[in-house]
Amino acid sequence: MNIEKIDVLVIGAGPAGTVAASIINKAGYKVKIVEKQKFPRFVIGESLLPRCMEALTEAGFVDAVKEKGFQQKSGAKFVKNGKICDYFFADQFTDGWNWTWQVPRAEFDKTLADTVEKMGVPVCYETTVTGITFNGSDSVTVVEDIDGNKTSIEAKFIVDGSGYGRVIPRLFNLDKPSNLPPRKALFTHTVDLKRSMDDEPNRITIIVHQPGVWIWVIPFSNGITSVGFVGSEEFFNQYQGDDETMLRQLMASQPYLAERLEGVDFVFEPRVLQSWSTTTDTFYGDGFVLTGNVTEFLDPIFSSGVTLATVSSQTAANLVIRKLRGEDIDWDKEYTEKLLQGVNTFRSYVMAWYEGTLDTIFFAEKQNHEIKKKICSVLAGYVWDLNNPFVSEHDTILKRLARTIELEVLANEEI
Ligand SMILES: Cc1cc2nc3c(=O)[nH]c(=O)nc-3n(C[C@H](O)[C@H](O)[C@H](O)COP(=O)(O)OP(=O)(O)OC[C@H]3O[C@@H](n4cnc5c(N)ncnc54)[C@H](O)[C@@H]3O)c2cc1C
Repeated sequence: MNIEKIDVLVIGAGPAGTVAASIINKAGYKVKIVEKQKFPRFVIGESLLPRCMEALTEAGFVDAVKEKGFQQKSGAKFVKNGKICDYFFADQFTDGWNWTWQVPRAEFDKTLADTVEKMGVPVCYETTVTGITFNGSDSVTVVEDIDGNKTSIEAKFIVDGSGYGRVIPRLFNLDKPSNLPPRKALFTHTVDLKRSMDDEPNRITIIVHQPGVWIWVIPFSNGITSVGFVGSEEFFNQYQGDDETMLRQLMASQPYLAERLEGVDFVFEPRVLQSWSTTTDTFYGDGFVLTGNVTEFLDPIFSSGVTLATVSSQTAANLVIRKLRGEDIDWDKEYTEKLLQGVNTFRSYVMAWYEGTLDTIFFAEKQNHEIKKKICSVLAGYVWDLNNPFVSEHDTILKRLARTIELEVLANEEI
């Protein structure tokens, strides 16, 4: 078997893997990415948040992505029974980016991977990690290419950005269930010829279909729009027929979408994803760090996936560099605590969404501009800004605010 020696092995060429690889490579270390699939490859997760632009900037990816002309995203629109709640990132409380992109991930991820390769990081496609042995923080990883050829890679550190592949948690039994209930998504890409009938044809829209069920509509700059329904298994079980029949029935049953999507062509047969929430016992170990979806993926509702993937990798990469330079790293404090700060903030918002608390806030008759700015920062991904009470008190503040709104409504009804 061939043996190769490098400083850092990165598993996966998604946003998590490429951001980490670029930052570590720029610090002068020998990095290699192994990627199971051939790019471009499909992956869901098309709506980005402004906070991920900081990680993409540090990785040196923004110019290459700009050249692709992806659809710019400057906010998000929530719709429920004809009521509209608009968020514009330019209005947010935290200083930071006020725009980002809506991207077909196959092309976006390939852009990041091609850019990191141009920077000098080899990306070995169709190469799968099959085993890892640690000896202290040094490791030997066995990878297998598509022709069955095996190579051993000796590395001083591993960044696992393998997404839904969860390589290290699976090899070392680190997975544990998330505290979020299982949900299911049914989605496709549509040829959105009637897009212009909408007031804001290119805007991402989240539609509350019924309690606990919502729809994403993510227009791309190439005329294709991603549409997906998310709900419980029981919700989907009420519908008959194959996935395409079911999705067309669902689209026709939503007044906000029915006309725009009537008879629309699907770019691919609808796909189903379910039970995506998983976490692990630890986000790091001697000689490795987990980043991106491998740490914890919560739920698609607030488009937090790519942002948590890139920010976790940005943070991890800088810690790996310091570790390789000989520093002692307090991984609990500098990595796990930081990451959980962001993940747990989003968790509170995800739970508040499915419990209906955010419906009360988003669709209240009277909107408080100062509060809206602070919630807007969370929706922009600035979930590490502890000056924002909607971040620092994420676990209590939403319920308190919704209760105040409900009491005001009751008081007005009594007058
Ligand atoms: C229904 C749904 C909708 C979503 N919508 C959004 C959204 O709108 N916005 C958003 O930000 N996020 C969204 N997400 C989340 C998003 O999909 C992920 O958070 C994001 O792709 C994570 O990026 P990553 O780099 O960690 O992993 P990935 O993008 O999954 O990349 C991991 C890579 O690792 C490779 N790999 C796996 N196993 C191995 C192995 N053994 N050896 C080598 N390589 C391997 C894979 O082939 C893959 O290319 C959504 C998720 C779901 C389920």
